[in-house]
Amino acid sequence: MSWTNNSEASLLVAHHMARGLFIVPCVFIFWLGTMSCLFAQDVSITTDAGELNSLIQPHLPHLIADGDHPADKFDVSIAIHKNEDPVLFSIPGFHSLGCVKCHQGDSLHFKAAHRMRRVLKRLKIIRPELTEIPLRQYIIQSWSDALLASHQLAHATFDTIRISPAAILIDDKAYHEATHLHESLHLTQSFVGLTNELEAYSLNILSDPRFLLLNFPYFEDVVKTFFAEDFSEILNNFYARPVLEKFDVPRETQWFLAPFDGDLLERLKQVVNKMKPLLNEISRLNRKYPREIAYLSEQTGNPALLLEIIAANNMPILDSDISDDTRLKAFEFFDLQMNKKDNTRLGYKINRKKEALLLIQHKLKVSDPVTRLKIYFEYLKQHFVKPEGGFNLQVEGGNDFYSYTLSKIESIRKIINYRGLSPIERTAAQKLIKKTYLILNSKN
Ligand SMILES: [Zn+2]
Repeated sequence: MSWTNNSEASLLVAHHMARGLFIVPCVFIFWLGTMSCLFAQDVSITTDAGELNSLIQPHLPHLIADGDHPADKFDVSIAIHKNEDPVLFSIPGFHSLGCVKCHQGDSLHFKAAHRMRRVLKRLKIIRPELTEIPLRQYIIQSWSDALLASHQLAHATFDTIRISPAAILIDDKAYHEATHLHESLHLTQSFVGLTNELEAYSLNILSDPRFLLLNFPYFEDVVKTFFAEDFSEILNNFYARPVLEKFDVPRETQWFLAPFDGDLLERLKQVVNKMKPLLNEISRLNRKYPREIAYLSEQTGNPALLLEIIAANNMPILDSDISDDTRLKAFEFFDLQMNKKDNTRLGYKINRKKEALLLIQHKLKVSDPVTRLKIYFEYLKQHFVKPEGGFNLQVEGGNDFYSYTLSKIESIRKIINYRGLSPIERTAAQKLIKKTYLILNSKN
């Protein structure tokens, strides 16, 4: 999760400024019989933005030159569960950065361990198929650097959660530990890429519908086509509420905390409930085809692609009421755009769906946006769903797919060389590289 809109978790986007300009995240690293019990947790908000702002003041990131890390740390190994290897809870700079002035002993470490125990239990209820959640280390990081950028709340690196002290407070007082849940899920993902965020935010919307509003770029087109036609209007109202720029509380947290129409939130909760089968599919497919889906999302510059393909398969698409000729030409636009490889080859961040939709609007004169989206879902169905059922997620990228995977391995290698990486992270990163090579060589 992040503080603002242009990092790993670019979901929490300033809506009124950035809708339509959504910047595709540049990721370098990177369910539920008992829904009701999760929803039960979202009703009480224990703070408001002003109080939270005062609380986080002593906990804002310290300024330290990048690559220059505190020499001291305070580590405590704590077993989360009996008979399991302990997790290393680490607070670098505990003395030199002044945490010791207010905090004593190992109480922060034990509190963090309790928190992780709760969060992992919750994750296992929501996603029982995740039998192994590889948390080896939890670092409370009081400065920003390449591993935890100043706009990020937290970051799952390799078998490790890095979180800022202010983010712990925000997660406790506002988000009901959604950040911890999100990062814990990241630990279980086997490849890198945009779809990992889609999967992790799917978990968050299940526990609170306000995350659907904050992370709209992942969900918007599916929600407004199949579940709530007025979703754009709801978004506009949600983001029209003022926030205080002078606060250090992220704007998205302020939007989250500010009172919003209770009936609408209740309706969105029902929407998320109806979306549950789609969200479960995201998780299943992202585990079955992690590399293919990461590639397709990046190639199309569309973080929502997997959810949209699943919706095209699962949901009834109403007739778009256009001529066969227009449909044929529209499909050609989608083909042309979505098969371009500039995003993966040249590192562009162009959303190919949006490009095609614009061409269909201007060249084919399909003026109704609802109709254009219907054609898009028809196209996805034809392209990614097998006539006999099931998904066709094979990648026709050939060499491009191969070099895409290599470039991801290369980006992990770069991080390994970063001085601030801990030994636990380094070992886990090397393991990930080895595993990815094995898959790559067995398939190519
Ligand atoms: Zn994330």
